Amino acid sequence: MEGNKKKKLKLKQKYVKVVKIIGIILAILVIGLFIYFKQINELRKLNYSFKASNKILFTMKKSYVLKVLENKTLNAAFESKDYDEKNLDNYAKIEYQKQKNLIKNINKLLKKGYSNSEINLILSHGTDSDVSKFAKREKIRYLEEFYTISYAKLNNYDRYVSYSDETGEDEETTVMNVNLNLDKEDYTDYVEISKFSYDIVVNKHRKLTENFNPHLVTISEKYAAEKGLKASAVAIKAFIKMANDAEKEGLGLIINSSYRSYEDQEDIENTYRDLYGENYVTKYVAKPGFSEHQTGLAFDIGSKTSNVFANSKEYKWMLENAYKYGFILRFPKKYENITGFRSEPWHYRYVGKKIAKYIYENDITLEEYFVLFLDK
Ligand SMILES: [Zn+2]
Repeated sequence: MEGNKKKKLKLKQKYVKVVKIIGIILAILVIGLFIYFKQINELRKLNYSFKASNKILFTMKKSYVLKVLENKTLNAAFESKDYDEKNLDNYAKIEYQKQKNLIKNINKLLKKGYSNSEINLILSHGTDSDVSKFAKREKIRYLEEFYTISYAKLNNYDRYVSYSDETGEDEETTVMNVNLNLDKEDYTDYVEISKFSYDIVVNKHRKLTENFNPHLVTISEKYAAEKGLKASAVAIKAFIKMANDAEKEGLGLIINSSYRSYEDQEDIENTYRDLYGENYVTKYVAKPGFSEHQTGLAFDIGSKTSNVFANSKEYKWMLENAYKYGFILRFPKKYENITGFRSEPWHYRYVGKKIAKYIYENDITLEEYFVLFLDK
């Protein structure tokens, strides 16, 4: 009996010991988890992702990160499989861009010898794939010269260099003209446009597709020189308001030509070719698809009081007032080299009030507005 009791007691003691050990292990685990989540939380509060926070703890960089505080590039670095510890300070100083290969490309650019500020310029002038392509090439010479200009494009670097060599133009003009494809032959290598918008840009480097068709309405005979002229609804509405206001001041505005289809433009081209020859056509007549009359947003405007529009008081009035209704003089004499078209005092284009006002106040062309604000 005695022996049995002793045995039972020993068993009980052993059992207590095991429970104690399990208890201690559990307690350590709980405390460990508590500390872990507390640290993760500190990082999460600085907007580091869960994935990045884990990597920060794992690589023992928490105190570094807490000194830098919130930093999107650093977050991306710790999230990335391309994270490279020796570039940590650079990541912290380089501005974040939403680009898939951001960290990989930063590593490559650092290796090529670019500084942090140069890398900032590179990253902000192209898409992810532009930067990836750029990161493969040898270090370029004129980075700051071109890429301190906000609208310079990474992809165009070689064209910038050869254009400025060939023309002697300054960097700003060079970037502007190359972005407008003015370094290319007219009607070659053009951009094709199939979608209508009131801020559309059509010129000798930007072509409308053959089946591009704006929403058209027929212009009331009161405002048109002939029956059946058509235009985009938004443009004709603005024109009517303008013509009515002009009329109150004793002026007569009339539309001589508006929407012309791709086929219409082919006919015009053929007519002028028969009359004046190929050279004339190439120089002065837009090829089919390259005339903005196909957008329904362009009007050739006449005066009811004078046969020569450029000499009329309507022309004078238009120069000062058309922008208030969303129209711009599309082909001014002094900008023939940018628009690619000979001066046409009668040709007005609807671009909306905001753009028209900017173009009027800053005395620029639609092409330049496009490079500055629309060509993203
Ligand atoms: Zn015209």
